[in-house]
Amino acid sequence: MTIRTEVLQLKDEMIGIRRDLHAHPELGFEEYRTAQVIENQLRSLGLEPRRMAGTGVVADLVGGAADSGPVLLLRADIDALPIQEANDVPYRSQNDGVMHACGHDAHTAMLLSAAQVLVAMKDDIPGRIRFLFQPNEEVAGAEQMVAEGALENPPVDAALGLHIWTPLPSGTIGATVGGVMSAMDVFHIVIKGKGGHTGYPDSAIDPVIAVADLIQTAQRLQTRDISLLKPTALVFSKIEAGTKNNIIPDEVVVEGTLRYLFDPKLDGDEDPPKRLEEIVAGVCAVHRCTYDYTVEQENEVVVNAPEMVKLVRETAAEILGDEKQIVEHRSMAGEDFAAYARRVPAAFVFLGTGNPEIGTDNPHHNPHFNVDEDTMPTGVELLVRTALRFFEKKTSGKGGL
Ligand SMILES: [Zn+2]
Ligand SMILES: [Zn+2]
Repeated sequence: MTIRTEVLQLKDEMIGIRRDLHAHPELGFEEYRTAQVIENQLRSLGLEPRRMAGTGVVADLVGGAADSGPVLLLRADIDALPIQEANDVPYRSQNDGVMHACGHDAHTAMLLSAAQVLVAMKDDIPGRIRFLFQPNEEVAGAEQMVAEGALENPPVDAALGLHIWTPLPSGTIGATVGGVMSAMDVFHIVIKGKGGHTGYPDSAIDPVIAVADLIQTAQRLQTRDISLLKPTALVFSKIEAGTKNNIIPDEVVVEGTLRYLFDPKLDGDEDPPKRLEEIVAGVCAVHRCTYDYTVEQENEVVVNAPEMVKLVRETAAEILGDEKQIVEHRSMAGEDFAAYARRVPAAFVFLGTGNPEIGTDNPHHNPHFNVDEDTMPTGVELLVRTALRFFEKKTSGKGGL
């Protein structure tokens, strides 16, 4: 029986699991029911799941070559979002205000199916596969999994992750070398002036006009300071100041996000958060203001390793039978898969699921978001066959692995 036939035999069961998870979404680090469903399923396959980071689940498939072979990590994320679902489907969310609006329900179901197929081939796998079901992707839960040893005992050699993606059409796979999902820094800036009467602005130090200038001047960062070939997006999304229309306030608080598709640590002369602070300092000097600047990195850039992307592309070409359906795709959204990709060679791949005919082309994190479930078997086949190809290349010393 071919792998495709095996995967297709699991399709109904997989969709059933996905719909069950969809109906019972849970927010990050609260995925208690979800973790239970995953554990039960893994145990039924003869694996021994263990908990990590509270609601994370990890299980190792030890193949024929036992502990001596390479270790591949396959990762799915399991959390939902604080969104009220607007879809009218039989499996709509039963938890008010919580929804699987990013496809993590599908990721979980696909990885469980991949585990089922791979367990049946256990004796032919010359190494170990770690199935990792990660909580709280939407707020960087991966770091906690890594801190609790997800990449150790034995050490993981490579990692593969997959995201259902509505911006890409159903039937396509996006696999790209280099930065594929953006770093995201959240900044908080307090511009401090001196409050006063709007009839005597010269005797005050007006922080509002300084902020107006900052928002304009800081835009240069994206095109004049950082190379155009290194996508950078600066957005001011929150401004707070003032109590009354005839009072100049003492200070203004501005917040926003700074996203970029490269790693400043490898590119020291172009460091977006550092450059933003320089601009804040310059603008404040002009306006006689002072400032506090804090920036917190929520996600690092996800950087795909060439040898891992090659593996995925070769596999995808076999599965899709048409190389034109394998596309280059990058996103300015963040993804905590960076926590793995920074430490081991990794590929993070997009599985196109956008299909306007059935309404699955809404953006991620939208209350109308949904998945083209017919694309899920392709995702499973990609996980299974890329894993097999990994062991084949790794043990033969080919493909740069
Ligand atoms: Zn998301
Ligand atoms: Zn997501």
